[in-house]
Amino acid sequence: MAMDDWQPPTTAPPPEGPLVDTFGRVADDLRVSVTDRCNFRCTYCMPAEGLAWIPKGEILTFEELTRLLGIFVSLGVRSLKVTGGEPTVRADLPRLIRMFREAGPELDISMTTNGALLDRLAAPLADAGLDRVTVSCDSLMRHRFAEMTRRDALDRVLRGIRAAEAAGLTPVKINCVVVGGQNDGEVVDFARWARETGYVVRFIEYMPLDAEHAWERAKVVPSRSIVKAIDRVFPLVPLGPDREPATSFAFADGAPGGIGVISSVTEPFCDSCNRLRITAEGQLRACLFALEETDLRGPLRSGASDREIERRIRAAVWRKWSGHRINHPDFVQPARSMSMIGG
Ligand code: SAM
Ligand code: SF4
Repeated sequence: MAMDDWQPPTTAPPPEGPLVDTFGRVADDLRVSVTDRCNFRCTYCMPAEGLAWIPKGEILTFEELTRLLGIFVSLGVRSLKVTGGEPTVRADLPRLIRMFREAGPELDISMTTNGALLDRLAAPLADAGLDRVTVSCDSLMRHRFAEMTRRDALDRVLRGIRAAEAAGLTPVKINCVVVGGQNDGEVVDFARWARETGYVVRFIEYMPLDAEHAWERAKVVPSRSIVKAIDRVFPLVPLGPDREPATSFAFADGAPGGIGVISSVTEPFCDSCNRLRITAEGQLRACLFALEETDLRGPLRSGASDREIERRIRAAVWRKWSGHRINHPDFVQPARSMSMIGG
Protein backbone atom coordinates (compact mmCIF):
# COMPACT_ATOMS: atom_id res chain seq x y z
CA MET A 1 0.00 0.00 0.00
CA ALA A 2 1.36 3.43 -0.90
CA MET A 3 1.99 5.73 2.03
CA ASP A 4 -1.16 7.77 1.58
CA ASP A 5 -3.65 5.06 0.48
CA TRP A 6 -5.27 5.39 3.89
CA GLN A 7 -6.31 8.95 3.20
CA PRO A 8 -9.56 9.79 1.36
CA PRO A 9 -8.96 9.35 -2.38
CA THR A 10 -11.13 12.22 -3.54
CA THR A 11 -11.93 15.81 -2.81
CA ALA A 12 -15.36 15.63 -4.49
CA PRO A 13 -18.17 16.84 -2.19
CA PRO A 14 -20.08 14.26 -0.10
CA PRO A 15 -23.32 12.94 -1.56
CA GLU A 16 -26.77 13.35 -0.01
CA GLY A 17 -28.43 10.30 1.60
CA PRO A 18 -26.84 8.22 4.37
CA LEU A 19 -23.63 9.40 6.07
CA VAL A 20 -21.03 7.80 3.88
CA ASP A 21 -17.25 8.13 3.54
CA THR A 22 -15.09 7.84 0.46
CA PHE A 23 -14.36 4.18 1.28
CA GLY A 24 -18.08 3.36 1.11
CA ARG A 25 -18.64 2.87 4.83
CA VAL A 26 -21.94 4.13 6.23
CA ALA A 27 -21.82 5.74 9.68
CA ASP A 28 -24.94 4.85 11.65
CA ASP A 29 -23.57 4.31 15.16
CA LEU A 30 -22.99 7.39 17.32
CA ARG A 31 -21.09 7.52 20.62
CA VAL A 32 -21.70 10.63 22.67
CA SER A 33 -19.51 11.55 25.60
CA VAL A 34 -21.66 13.43 28.11
CA THR A 35 -18.74 14.34 30.39
CA ASP A 36 -14.96 14.03 30.48
CA ARG A 37 -15.06 13.65 34.29
CA CYS A 38 -14.67 10.34 36.05
CA ASN A 39 -14.83 8.89 39.55
CA PHE A 40 -12.24 6.19 38.67
CA ARG A 41 -8.65 6.51 37.46
CA CYS A 42 -8.05 3.34 35.42
CA THR A 43 -4.35 2.95 34.72
CA TYR A 44 -4.89 2.26 30.99
CA CYS A 45 -7.01 5.39 30.57
CA MET A 46 -6.33 8.26 33.00
CA PRO A 47 -3.39 9.49 35.05
CA ALA A 48 -3.55 8.97 38.85
CA GLU A 49 -4.20 12.69 39.19
CA GLY A 50 -3.73 15.96 37.37
CA LEU A 51 -5.92 15.66 34.27
CA ALA A 52 -7.65 19.06 33.95
CA TRP A 53 -11.41 18.85 33.43
CA ILE A 54 -12.99 20.69 30.53
CA PRO A 55 -14.59 23.88 31.98
CA LYS A 56 -18.33 23.40 32.57
CA GLY A 57 -19.30 26.20 30.15
CA GLU A 58 -17.58 24.33 27.31
CA ILE A 59 -19.52 21.11 27.85
CA LEU A 60 -22.58 20.68 25.64
CA THR A 61 -25.87 21.33 27.42
CA PHE A 62 -28.71 18.79 27.38
CA GLU A 63 -30.50 20.91 24.78
CA GLU A 64 -27.40 21.08 22.53
CA LEU A 65 -26.79 17.35 22.84
CA THR A 66 -30.41 16.57 22.01
CA ARG A 67 -30.47 18.90 19.02
CA LEU A 68 -27.32 17.23 17.66
CA LEU A 69 -28.80 13.79 18.22
CA GLY A 70 -31.92 14.79 16.28
CA ILE A 71 -29.74 15.84 13.34
CA PHE A 72 -27.80 12.57 13.44
CA VAL A 73 -31.03 10.55 13.58
CA SER A 74 -32.29 12.42 10.52
CA LEU A 75 -29.02 11.38 8.82
CA GLY A 76 -29.61 7.68 9.47
CA VAL A 77 -27.98 7.03 12.85
CA ARG A 78 -29.63 3.93 14.36
CA SER A 79 -27.76 3.37 17.60
CA LEU A 80 -26.53 5.68 20.33
CA LYS A 81 -23.96 4.83 22.98
CA VAL A 82 -23.80 7.23 25.92
CA THR A 83 -20.29 7.32 27.32
CA GLY A 84 -17.62 9.52 28.89
CA GLY A 85 -15.52 9.97 31.09
CA GLU A 86 -18.01 8.36 33.38
CA PRO A 87 -21.51 9.18 32.11
CA THR A 88 -23.21 8.54 35.46
CA VAL A 89 -21.38 11.47 37.08
CA ARG A 90 -23.20 13.90 34.77
CA ALA A 91 -25.90 15.47 36.94
CA ASP A 92 -29.49 14.59 36.07
CA LEU A 93 -28.53 11.90 33.56
CA PRO A 94 -32.00 10.25 33.52
CA ARG A 95 -33.49 13.55 32.29
CA LEU A 96 -30.98 13.61 29.43
CA ILE A 97 -31.78 9.99 28.52
CA ARG A 98 -35.48 10.89 28.44
CA MET A 99 -34.70 13.77 26.04
CA PHE A 100 -32.61 11.43 23.86
CA ARG A 101 -35.45 8.91 23.82
CA GLU A 102 -37.88 11.59 22.65
CA ALA A 103 -35.45 12.64 19.89
CA GLY A 104 -35.06 9.04 18.74
CA PRO A 105 -38.01 6.84 19.71
CA GLU A 106 -36.69 3.95 17.56
CA LEU A 107 -33.04 4.38 18.51
CA ASP A 108 -31.09 1.63 20.26
CA ILE A 109 -29.78 3.57 23.29
CA SER A 110 -27.10 1.99 25.46
CA MET A 111 -24.49 3.26 27.89
CA THR A 112 -20.96 2.28 28.79
CA THR A 113 -20.25 2.84 32.48
CA ASN A 114 -17.86 1.80 35.22
CA GLY A 115 -20.97 0.77 37.15
CA ALA A 116 -20.05 2.39 40.47
CA LEU A 117 -23.24 4.50 40.58
CA LEU A 118 -25.55 2.04 38.86
CA ASP A 119 -27.07 0.61 42.03
CA ARG A 120 -29.11 3.79 42.43
CA LEU A 121 -29.25 4.93 38.78
CA ALA A 122 -30.15 1.74 36.90
CA ALA A 123 -33.91 1.91 37.59
CA PRO A 124 -34.35 5.65 36.79
CA LEU A 125 -32.26 5.24 33.62
CA ALA A 126 -34.31 2.26 32.44
CA ASP A 127 -37.47 4.21 33.23
CA ALA A 128 -36.17 7.14 31.14
CA GLY A 129 -35.72 4.94 28.09
CA LEU A 130 -32.20 3.48 28.26
CA ASP A 131 -32.22 0.05 26.58
CA ARG A 132 -29.12 -1.60 28.07
CA VAL A 133 -25.70 -1.11 29.61
CA THR A 134 -22.15 -2.28 29.20
CA VAL A 135 -20.28 -2.24 32.49
CA SER A 136 -16.50 -2.18 32.63
CA CYS A 137 -14.94 -4.69 35.01
CA ASP A 138 -11.30 -5.69 34.61
CA SER A 139 -10.91 -8.09 37.50
CA LEU A 140 -13.02 -10.28 39.75
CA MET A 141 -10.36 -10.03 42.45
CA ARG A 142 -10.66 -7.12 44.83
CA HIS A 143 -6.95 -6.23 45.01
CA ARG A 144 -6.41 -6.40 41.25
CA PHE A 145 -9.57 -4.43 40.52
CA ALA A 146 -8.29 -1.73 42.89
CA GLU A 147 -4.85 -1.81 41.27
CA MET A 148 -6.24 -1.39 37.73
CA THR A 149 -8.94 1.20 38.44
CA ARG A 150 -7.16 2.88 41.37
CA ARG A 151 -10.45 2.49 43.31
CA ASP A 152 -11.40 -0.22 45.82
CA ALA A 153 -14.86 -0.54 44.28
CA LEU A 154 -15.34 -4.10 43.02
CA ASP A 155 -18.28 -4.78 45.36
CA ARG A 156 -20.04 -1.57 44.34
CA VAL A 157 -19.58 -2.38 40.67
CA LEU A 158 -20.94 -5.91 41.15
CA ARG A 159 -23.95 -4.41 42.97
CA GLY A 160 -24.40 -1.99 40.07
CA ILE A 161 -24.32 -4.83 37.55
CA ARG A 162 -27.00 -6.71 39.49
CA ALA A 163 -29.11 -3.54 39.69
CA ALA A 164 -28.83 -3.10 35.91
CA GLU A 165 -30.02 -6.65 35.39
CA ALA A 166 -32.91 -6.19 37.81
CA ALA A 167 -33.92 -2.97 36.02
CA GLY A 168 -34.06 -4.83 32.69
CA LEU A 169 -31.02 -3.11 31.13
CA THR A 170 -30.24 -6.38 29.39
CA PRO A 171 -28.41 -8.18 27.93
CA VAL A 172 -25.78 -6.94 30.40
CA LYS A 173 -22.40 -6.77 28.71
CA ILE A 174 -19.13 -6.56 30.57
CA ASN A 175 -16.06 -4.82 29.11
CA CYS A 176 -12.74 -6.15 30.32
CA VAL A 177 -9.54 -4.51 29.09
CA VAL A 178 -6.88 -7.20 29.17
CA VAL A 179 -3.41 -5.96 30.08
CA GLY A 180 -0.53 -8.42 29.88
CA GLY A 181 1.02 -9.18 33.27
CA GLN A 182 -2.02 -7.83 35.12
CA ASN A 183 -5.39 -9.51 34.52
CA ASP A 184 -4.57 -11.86 31.61
CA GLY A 185 -4.61 -14.84 33.98
CA GLU A 186 -8.28 -14.21 34.77
CA VAL A 187 -9.89 -14.76 31.38
CA VAL A 188 -11.12 -18.30 32.18
CA ASP A 189 -12.55 -17.05 35.51
CA PHE A 190 -14.44 -14.37 33.57
CA ALA A 191 -15.79 -17.03 31.21
CA ARG A 192 -16.94 -19.12 34.18
CA TRP A 193 -18.66 -16.01 35.60
CA ALA A 194 -20.37 -15.40 32.24
CA ARG A 195 -21.76 -18.95 32.32
CA GLU A 196 -23.00 -18.55 35.88
CA THR A 197 -24.64 -15.14 35.37
CA GLY A 198 -25.65 -15.08 31.71
CA TYR A 199 -23.57 -11.93 31.07
CA VAL A 200 -21.66 -11.41 27.84
CA VAL A 201 -18.02 -10.69 28.72
CA ARG A 202 -16.09 -8.82 26.04
CA PHE A 203 -12.31 -8.77 26.23
CA ILE A 204 -10.79 -5.60 24.78
CA GLU A 205 -7.22 -5.39 23.57
CA TYR A 206 -5.27 -2.67 25.35
CA MET A 207 -5.01 0.31 22.98
CA PRO A 208 -2.52 3.20 22.90
CA LEU A 209 -5.00 5.74 24.27
CA ASP A 210 -3.80 5.96 27.87
CA ALA A 211 -3.06 9.39 29.31
CA GLU A 212 0.30 8.32 30.71
CA HIS A 213 1.58 6.95 27.39
CA ALA A 214 2.63 3.74 29.16
CA TRP A 215 1.13 1.54 26.42
CA GLU A 216 3.56 -1.04 25.02
CA ARG A 217 2.86 -3.65 22.39
CA ALA A 218 4.21 -6.28 24.80
CA LYS A 219 1.25 -5.60 27.12
CA VAL A 220 -1.33 -6.28 24.39
CA VAL A 221 -2.80 -9.76 24.84
CA PRO A 222 -3.98 -10.92 21.38
CA SER A 223 -7.67 -11.85 21.29
CA ARG A 224 -6.79 -15.12 19.59
CA SER A 225 -4.87 -16.30 22.64
CA ILE A 226 -7.77 -15.32 24.91
CA VAL A 227 -10.25 -17.32 22.82
CA LYS A 228 -7.86 -20.28 22.78
CA ALA A 229 -7.38 -20.23 26.55
CA ILE A 230 -11.14 -20.17 27.18
CA ASP A 231 -11.98 -22.69 24.45
CA ARG A 232 -9.65 -25.23 26.09
CA VAL A 233 -11.76 -25.18 29.28
CA PHE A 234 -15.18 -24.16 27.96
CA PRO A 235 -15.47 -24.99 24.23
CA LEU A 236 -16.80 -22.04 22.22
CA VAL A 237 -18.78 -21.71 19.00
CA PRO A 238 -18.42 -18.56 16.90
CA LEU A 239 -21.56 -16.52 16.26
CA GLY A 240 -22.23 -14.70 13.00
CA PRO A 241 -21.21 -11.06 12.56
CA ASP A 242 -23.55 -8.39 13.96
CA ARG A 243 -23.31 -4.60 14.18
CA GLU A 244 -20.65 -4.78 16.90
CA PRO A 245 -16.89 -4.71 16.37
CA ALA A 246 -16.68 -7.61 18.82
CA THR A 247 -16.30 -11.15 17.50
CA SER A 248 -18.79 -13.12 19.55
CA PHE A 249 -18.91 -16.69 20.82
CA ALA A 250 -21.48 -18.84 22.61
CA PHE A 251 -20.64 -21.76 24.87
CA ALA A 252 -20.78 -25.02 22.91
CA ASP A 253 -22.64 -26.81 25.73
CA GLY A 254 -25.47 -24.27 25.60
CA ALA A 255 -24.61 -22.59 28.91
CA PRO A 256 -25.97 -19.06 29.25
CA GLY A 257 -23.85 -15.96 28.69
CA GLY A 258 -21.22 -15.50 26.07
CA ILE A 259 -17.81 -14.19 25.16
CA GLY A 260 -16.68 -11.44 22.82
CA VAL A 261 -13.29 -10.14 21.78
CA ILE A 262 -12.49 -6.69 20.47
CA SER A 263 -9.22 -6.99 18.59
CA SER A 264 -8.54 -3.34 17.77
CA VAL A 265 -4.77 -3.85 17.76
CA THR A 266 -4.08 -7.32 16.37
CA GLU A 267 -7.02 -7.61 13.95
CA PRO A 268 -8.36 -4.11 13.25
CA PHE A 269 -11.93 -3.92 11.98
CA CYS A 270 -11.60 -0.47 10.35
CA ASP A 271 -12.93 -1.76 6.99
CA SER A 272 -16.39 -2.16 8.50
CA CYS A 273 -16.30 0.73 10.97
CA ASN A 274 -19.71 2.43 11.24
CA ARG A 275 -18.90 4.67 14.23
CA LEU A 276 -18.77 8.37 14.93
CA ARG A 277 -17.95 10.08 18.20
CA ILE A 278 -18.84 13.40 19.77
CA THR A 279 -16.68 14.57 22.66
CA ALA A 280 -18.19 16.22 25.72
CA GLU A 281 -17.42 19.68 24.35
CA GLY A 282 -18.92 18.99 20.94
CA GLN A 283 -16.03 17.89 18.72
CA LEU A 284 -16.92 15.31 16.09
CA ARG A 285 -14.35 12.51 15.64
CA ALA A 286 -14.68 10.07 12.75
CA CYS A 287 -12.21 7.62 14.36
CA LEU A 288 -11.13 6.81 17.91
CA PHE A 289 -7.56 7.48 16.78
CA ALA A 290 -8.34 10.56 14.65
CA LEU A 291 -5.87 13.41 14.83
CA GLU A 292 -8.49 15.77 13.43
CA GLU A 293 -11.74 16.95 15.04
CA THR A 294 -14.65 18.96 13.64
CA ASP A 295 -16.15 21.58 15.91
CA LEU A 296 -19.92 21.32 16.24
CA ARG A 297 -20.28 23.43 19.39
CA GLY A 298 -19.22 26.67 17.65
CA PRO A 299 -21.97 26.41 15.01
CA LEU A 300 -24.49 25.26 17.63
CA ARG A 301 -23.79 28.36 19.71
CA SER A 302 -23.60 30.84 16.86
CA GLY A 303 -27.05 30.25 15.42
CA ALA A 304 -26.21 27.80 12.60
CA SER A 305 -29.19 26.06 11.01
CA ASP A 306 -29.61 22.27 11.16
CA ARG A 307 -28.75 22.19 7.45
CA GLU A 308 -25.42 23.98 8.08
CA ILE A 309 -24.55 21.59 10.91
CA GLU A 310 -25.52 18.66 8.70
CA ARG A 311 -23.12 19.92 5.99
CA ARG A 312 -20.26 19.99 8.55
CA ILE A 313 -21.07 16.48 9.70
CA ARG A 314 -21.25 15.15 6.14
CA ALA A 315 -17.92 16.74 5.24
CA ALA A 316 -16.22 15.29 8.34
CA VAL A 317 -17.52 11.77 7.69
CA TRP A 318 -16.56 12.03 4.01
CA ARG A 319 -12.95 12.82 5.02
CA LYS A 320 -12.66 9.77 7.32
CA TRP A 321 -9.42 7.87 6.78
CA SER A 322 -9.45 4.18 5.87
CA GLY A 323 -8.20 3.06 9.26
CA HIS A 324 -6.05 3.67 12.31
CA ARG A 325 -2.27 3.45 12.08
CA ILE A 326 -1.44 1.53 15.27
CA ASN A 327 0.46 -1.11 13.30
CA HIS A 328 2.35 1.34 11.10
CA PRO A 329 5.66 3.03 11.87
CA ASP A 330 4.06 6.48 11.35
CA PHE A 331 1.45 5.92 14.15
CA VAL A 332 0.85 9.00 16.26
CA GLN A 333 -1.07 8.60 19.53
CA PRO A 334 -3.90 11.17 19.70
CA ALA A 335 -3.24 14.05 22.09
CA ARG A 336 -6.39 13.20 24.02
CA SER A 337 -6.75 10.01 26.00
CA MET A 338 -9.73 7.65 26.13
CA SER A 339 -11.62 9.47 28.91
CA MET A 340 -11.40 12.76 26.98
CA ILE A 341 -12.51 11.22 23.68
CA GLY A 342 -15.32 8.96 24.87
CA GLY A 343 -14.66 5.26 24.45
N1 SAM B 1 -16.19 5.26 32.18
C1 SAM B 1 -16.91 4.34 31.40
C2 SAM B 1 -16.32 2.96 31.47
O1 SAM B 1 -15.19 2.83 31.94
O2 SAM B 1 -16.97 2.01 31.05
C3 SAM B 1 -17.09 4.77 29.95
C4 SAM B 1 -15.90 5.40 29.28
S1 SAM B 1 -14.51 4.34 29.03
C5 SAM B 1 -13.38 5.43 28.25
C6 SAM B 1 -15.11 3.28 27.72
C7 SAM B 1 -14.40 1.96 27.57
O3 SAM B 1 -13.08 2.19 27.12
C8 SAM B 1 -14.27 1.17 28.87
O4 SAM B 1 -14.77 -0.14 28.69
C9 SAM B 1 -12.79 1.14 29.12
O5 SAM B 1 -12.41 -0.04 29.77
C10 SAM B 1 -12.23 1.24 27.71
N2 SAM B 1 -10.84 1.74 27.66
C11 SAM B 1 -10.33 2.83 28.27
N3 SAM B 1 -9.03 2.98 27.97
C12 SAM B 1 -8.69 1.94 27.15
C13 SAM B 1 -7.50 1.54 26.49
N4 SAM B 1 -6.35 2.22 26.61
N5 SAM B 1 -7.53 0.43 25.71
C14 SAM B 1 -8.68 -0.27 25.56
N6 SAM B 1 -9.86 0.07 26.14
C15 SAM B 1 -9.87 1.16 26.94
FE1 SF4 C 1 -12.95 6.40 34.01
FE2 SF4 C 1 -13.89 4.69 32.21
FE3 SF4 C 1 -11.45 5.80 31.91
FE4 SF4 C 1 -11.82 4.02 33.85
S1 SF4 C 1 -11.99 3.64 31.63
S2 SF4 C 1 -10.78 6.02 34.05
S3 SF4 C 1 -13.88 4.43 34.45
S4 SF4 C 1 -13.38 6.86 31.83
